Amino acid sequence: LADNTRKNKSVSNMNKSNILIVDDDLVNLLVLEKMLKNQDLNITKAGSGIEALELIEKTNFALILLDAQMPELNGFETAKKIRSSKKHRDLPIIILSAVSKTKEFILKGYEAGAVDYLLKPIDQFLLMSKVNVFCELHKQKELLEGKNSELNKLNVKLHEEISKQEKIKQKLLFQAIRDPLTGLFNRRYLEESLEREISKAKRQKIPLGLIMLDADHFKDFNDVYGHIAGDIVLKHLSTLLVKNSRKEDIACRFGGEEFVLVLPGTDEIVARKRAEDLRLIVETGKPILHGKKELPNITISLGIALLPEHGKTAISLVTAADQALYQAKREGRNRVIVASTDQK
Ligand code: GH3
Ligand code: MG
Ligand code: MG
Repeated sequence: LADNTRKNKSVSNMNKSNILIVDDDLVNLLVLEKMLKNQDLNITKAGSGIEALELIEKTNFALILLDAQMPELNGFETAKKIRSSKKHRDLPIIILSAVSKTKEFILKGYEAGAVDYLLKPIDQFLLMSKVNVFCELHKQKELLEGKNSELNKLNVKLHEEISKQEKIKQKLLFQAIRDPLTGLFNRRYLEESLEREISKAKRQKIPLGLIMLDADHFKDFNDVYGHIAGDIVLKHLSTLLVKNSRKEDIACRFGGEEFVLVLPGTDEIVARKRAEDLRLIVETGKPILHGKKELPNITISLGIALLPEHGKTAISLVTAADQALYQAKREGRNRVIVASTDQK
């Protein structure tokens, strides 16, 4: 029988419904098979309940026709075992019996989980109509399952697409407010965030410091060491600015070799200390490598303006810091100058 089954499987057509017929009597099996000879069916025969239990693990059957009277595992016991597995709980079973026509016996079949009951000798017309109904149900179920898994796949794809779009959006948002060379905030971001920070500081009645700083003689540095070395130095300077910031500070690249630090909650004494620390770190920090070559440290000049002493708006604060920076340059560079109140 097993050989027969394998052959059956190998020629099985995907569109045909698989039917398992189980009977310990070979003649009964052959009779049943003959009755079911139909081009839409793919019949597998089993000689015992145990063989049937093995076969249902390998083939997706639309229906099992199960003889009630069999040695070892009878039809009811086999049906019960099939029902008890989660995988086969919904596999339709029709119990075939010649033994009894009493109601009680039929009930036993239903209790064992059979969906239907047929009495021997079997009426071919009745058999075929029942088989056709179950095959049709099975096809619909398969179709639904196929659609369901298609939907699931589409759903997975959709979620992948959404998270991809989300990443692109995040990247664009990042790029919109960052300077590509240094990764610091750009000037556009400074303009909007400074307005916001000034309003906040006024509302909370806390000070706010703004430092504008610029690399000294940077044109000469580029001329001597090259533009690439210049870029490396600017990136390093940006790293230093970030490293020496608190989380509420805003570090921006204002233009070429010019940077702005917004320091919410910072008064003149603290702003002066922050600026002086930075100046010293840049001047005396570990030299940067360009390939194997050590680049000389640059120096920076810094101008400080404070809210509200040196300006009450974003523009007036930036202008005051810029003027202080200009003064630092004039007075010899590599120094910190706080805006004077008459610059207001
Ligand atoms: P000062 O001390 O007065 O600021 O002199 P400086 O030479 O630094 O100032 P200047 O404004 O004359 O020149 C700025 C230089 O900064 C010129 C320009 O090539 C350089 N620079 C601006 N942006 C970049 C950049 O992204 N990369 C590099 N490598 N150099 C830059
Ligand atoms: Mg400069
Ligand atoms: Mg400059």
